Amino acid sequence: VANNFGLLKNPYKKDLPNRIWTETFPLYRNVQKCIKCMRCVQYCEKIQTLGVWGMSGSGSRTTVDVTYNRRIKDSDCSLCGQCITHCPVGALRERDDTREVLDALRDPDKITVVQIAPAVRAAWGETHGLPREMATVRRLTAILRSMGFDYVFDTAFSADLTIMEESTEFLKRLKNGELKDLPMFTSCCPGWMRFVKSQYPQLVPQISTAKSPMQMFGAITKTYFAEKMGIDPEKICSVAIMPCIAKKAEKDGHVFDRNRKHGMQDVDIVLTTREMDRLMRMQNINVFSLPEAEFDSPLGIGSGAGVIFGATGGVMEAALRTAYHTVVGENAPADAFRSIRGQEGWREAEFDLNGTTIRCAVASGLGNARKLIQAVLTHKVHYDFVEIMACPGGCVGGGGQPIPFEQNEL
Ligand code: SF4
Repeated sequence: VANNFGLLKNPYKKDLPNRIWTETFPLYRNVQKCIKCMRCVQYCEKIQTLGVWGMSGSGSRTTVDVTYNRRIKDSDCSLCGQCITHCPVGALRERDDTREVLDALRDPDKITVVQIAPAVRAAWGETHGLPREMATVRRLTAILRSMGFDYVFDTAFSADLTIMEESTEFLKRLKNGELKDLPMFTSCCPGWMRFVKSQYPQLVPQISTAKSPMQMFGAITKTYFAEKMGIDPEKICSVAIMPCIAKKAEKDGHVFDRNRKHGMQDVDIVLTTREMDRLMRMQNINVFSLPEAEFDSPLGIGSGAGVIFGATGGVMEAALRTAYHTVVGENAPADAFRSIRGQEGWREAEFDLNGTTIRCAVASGLGNARKLIQAVLTHKVHYDFVEIMACPGGCVGGGGQPIPFEQNEL
């Protein structure tokens, strides 16, 4: 395997001294494949993050030019992974963690628990050529079980928990007058988290304190679930299938690094949708032949609010619905928050919550997020609650999703 320095190295020899960053950082570039077309830099600078990525300035020529071209891991890369999906020659890719999963599945002492993020169900069948009617989340559940996972669960379960936490926190901050100057921001997108911490650290106190659904799920798996099932949590290997590169870094984040009760990581391995598809091919799974199956219990249930987390505006709609129910005592009408949904990069809407006007905004793509934040900080706009997703369209357009064929045409 060629690494970023053009050397040949066995990625599976983990004990080699001085491991280079390309084997540990979630995103890397293979210089032997790169044709220096600069499409990744253009996308990062002009559409996504307006030049926070390490390759800005001199493009993908080297990895160590300290004047213009920092190594990716030393830059302010948000890890949204959009450069991967726009590279025409496949020179950029995520760190491959499929070997870790195969090791865990083979280990008789491990209990493997896998969670499936909402956006994965919308895209996993694309690379297998499955028609939409066949590419269901139930069929994916059956496939993962046939691979050997002991329990297959739905991240929508913990998305519901996130939304209950986040909407309660929003109502509390609103009541306490904490949102008079600056809004509360959502916290579930790790690409957005990396961006705001590096670019606008003064806004960190405005971010919701709720963990992301993936991290909540991991924490619950190794505490509540382990206790209910009588499983030693140290034996659990918690795997997350995500549409996202930044989740690979989020699971190692210092604020999440230990499951407090047991001194373990909440989530052990994160695979992107693409890696999961590769795993299916490695194991020669015939995705057309398996019948559908249900999620396991008790962490396999989730509401529609959890599922819409996968698309831009979904977190905001779910939070507002929960807040409405908390304040008014009944469910909001079906179309009550329709105006906050859509595909525009920056949308805003006002809602009446029992006599209080709530000003909301939703942005997807970090270039749009930057414009929105600049407008907030210069007092051109004022919001109470803001949802930001790093990837255009939200997680369904995530950097770990299957790459549409037409984007790879030169
Ligand atoms: Fe990951 Fe979704 Fe955020 Fe993209 S929008 S960085 S896929 S959490």
